[in-house]
Amino acid sequence: MPYLHTPIEALSGVGPTRKAAYNKMGVYTVEDLLCHFPRAYEHRGDIRALAESRDDAYKTGKARMATLLTVSTEPRVSRVKGRMTVLKFRAFDESGTCDITFFNQEFLRNTFTVGGVFRFYGRVESVGKDRYAMTAPAYEPFVESRPLPPLYAVYPLTEGISNKMISEHIRQSLAATSLVEDPLPESVRAAEGLCTLGYALREIHAPSDFGSLHTAKRRLAFDEFFRFALGLGTAGRTAGVKGAPVCRVSDGVMQDFLNALPYALTGAQTRALSDLRRDLASDTAMNRMIVGDVGCGKTVCAAAAMYVAVKSGRQAALMAPTGILAAQHAADLLPLFERLGIRGALLTGHTPAAQKRKIYAALASSDPAQRLDVVIGTQALLSEGVAFAAPGLVVTDEQHRFGVNQRATLSEKNRNAHLLVMSATPIPRTLALVMYGDLEVSRIDEMPPGRQRVDTFVVDESYRARLNAFIRKNVEAGGQVYVVCPAVEEAEEDEDTALIPISADFGGEQTAMALVKREPDLPMKAAVQYAAELQERLPDLKIAFVHGKMKPAEKDKVMTAFAGGDIQVLVSTTVIEVGVNVPNACLMLVENAERFGLSQLHQLRGRVGRGTRKSYCVLIRNGGGETARARLEVMRTTYDGYAIAEKDLAQRGPGDFLAPADGAGIRQSGGFRLAENCSDTELMNHAFQHAREMLADDPELAGYPELRRTVEQMYARSGNILN
Ligand code: ADP
Ligand code: MG
Repeated sequence: MPYLHTPIEALSGVGPTRKAAYNKMGVYTVEDLLCHFPRAYEHRGDIRALAESRDDAYKTGKARMATLLTVSTEPRVSRVKGRMTVLKFRAFDESGTCDITFFNQEFLRNTFTVGGVFRFYGRVESVGKDRYAMTAPAYEPFVESRPLPPLYAVYPLTEGISNKMISEHIRQSLAATSLVEDPLPESVRAAEGLCTLGYALREIHAPSDFGSLHTAKRRLAFDEFFRFALGLGTAGRTAGVKGAPVCRVSDGVMQDFLNALPYALTGAQTRALSDLRRDLASDTAMNRMIVGDVGCGKTVCAAAAMYVAVKSGRQAALMAPTGILAAQHAADLLPLFERLGIRGALLTGHTPAAQKRKIYAALASSDPAQRLDVVIGTQALLSEGVAFAAPGLVVTDEQHRFGVNQRATLSEKNRNAHLLVMSATPIPRTLALVMYGDLEVSRIDEMPPGRQRVDTFVVDESYRARLNAFIRKNVEAGGQVYVVCPAVEEAEEDEDTALIPISADFGGEQTAMALVKREPDLPMKAAVQYAAELQERLPDLKIAFVHGKMKPAEKDKVMTAFAGGDIQVLVSTTVIEVGVNVPNACLMLVENAERFGLSQLHQLRGRVGRGTRKSYCVLIRNGGGETARARLEVMRTTYDGYAIAEKDLAQRGPGDFLAPADGAGIRQSGGFRLAENCSDTELMNHAFQHAREMLADDPELAGYPELRRTVEQMYARSGNILN
């Protein structure tokens, strides 16, 4: 019998090849396999008459369905094309007769005996009046006294591992769950009414019914939140650390900085700056976040703080999540600093090695006359060579885009430095608390003068012709246009509309049933293809695209061309979501807007309306039904980022806030499998609360070795975008 730590190759049917395939998926042990949750379920308990395959819901020919058929003829085996065998028999229900065919499975002749009843699952083709056909359907013998499970798990797969295979290996592994020691303290489990881990693992893979599946998901989602919170709590936190450098300048010296700006600070910026000056002047390390809608002018506040640190004899670093953003900050800030006699440099992955070495040396120089005062860069700032001679302030822009590990690395590297975070996504309070600890918040709730509201519209496909005309009109007026499509890889999503995704939040059978019949989504618009189509419709416009799979250098090239006005329409996936500044852009079109989180949409909308042009945001809805309509309506009527963030959290769960949307981090590694879409904010808050209490008693989790192990595993697996 397998134990949790039993290596995967000990299971029967796992040889070296399959072991390698499993390893590729990050599955090494029975425990890993049990934590490889289904991505969806086939609703095999939803038995339909053959004739129902003619209904609209199934007509697409894509949807599979479950049938209960009685075998009426003996299987006949014939040989075709040399070595291939075909096995055929007939089976029926009250609505019709079905020809069933299997290839190369001669041995099934003994399985399907006349009079036998089976549950078949697959695509049903209509081949004549009351005549149907199924090819290689899934089958299970039906016995009245022993009901078949209603839900059949569908797993994320990799080459060399089929769903049938993985199901069998999981079936073997499930035996280990009876020995699972529940790492969650009994008191927490009882307080939250959660099932045991063993039960949850059994039910997530082989649900007895919808109710128990819900129970299992609730428990496993709780665990993910709980471990996430514990992990952040145990990661080195600099807040409150004594011994930080006191950074203070006189009002006169501060005024020199303000005089160097082409504008006056707004009241909100001035308030944020005085918060920063007060924190920096203390020997307790600052841990502050500046939150404010895109375009409100956070950067200049951060720059002012960097100035204070430098004028106090320390160094300051600014880290941005992308090369484009870092370069943009450098282009804006380095000349300003230079005018003030401050030496700075840009350090990204593209910086040539020789130049990098120079920067490393200048940062580490003990001679203040040689030293670099300021460095602006990407994750490259976290690399080993970077060491500051006199660290004073570390600023990260759009920090939530970084993985937790990076945040830990950065504060670890600069133990005593003051920390400042700039975030454009207003993070709901509960999440901010767990992600950043007891950080203090300065809110910039006022826009620089002259900004106008971006008029927002929600439209559907019937507006296509008018949209093209609108793009042209804006370009002809001298403006620029963004078109955002969902990420390219998403185009390969499930086509089988009968699948119930694991993210479906079903409290009972009712909702799940509704989901099974959800309207089939229209095809998604991938950036590359979309750009080509748009170019056909608007042949004289300069159109280009960027997407997440492009090399950073290529991406930068296109972005730079767009920023320079050489490209009029930029089609992209969400890569532009993060703070690029192109004041001439005045129209933002979002395709398949129903696929985006509200906070993402809010971010995207913030890309336009940054200059003097009247700006628009058009959200194009492509299916998604009534829910999508209601969600997008929020965007049309709400401009307050906080209100939007709270609604987003309630509707979509914390996934968009907790991990970077375009890749690495806990989300992708599978650390957030169930919690990502869990919109049960109460469950989340309770998990965070329990984690805080546990850490208050036992900060290192010394008394909970098993819990500690799983937390470490979650964070280790989440990897590091650095590499
Ligand atoms: P965000 O908060 O989104 O990072 P930025 O810091 O990029 O916004 O500022 C957006 C634009 O507003 C920049 O071009 C910046 O120069 C400008 N800006 C910032 N503060 C002011 C101000 N007080 N008055 C006028 N323009 C300002
Ligand atoms: Mg910004």
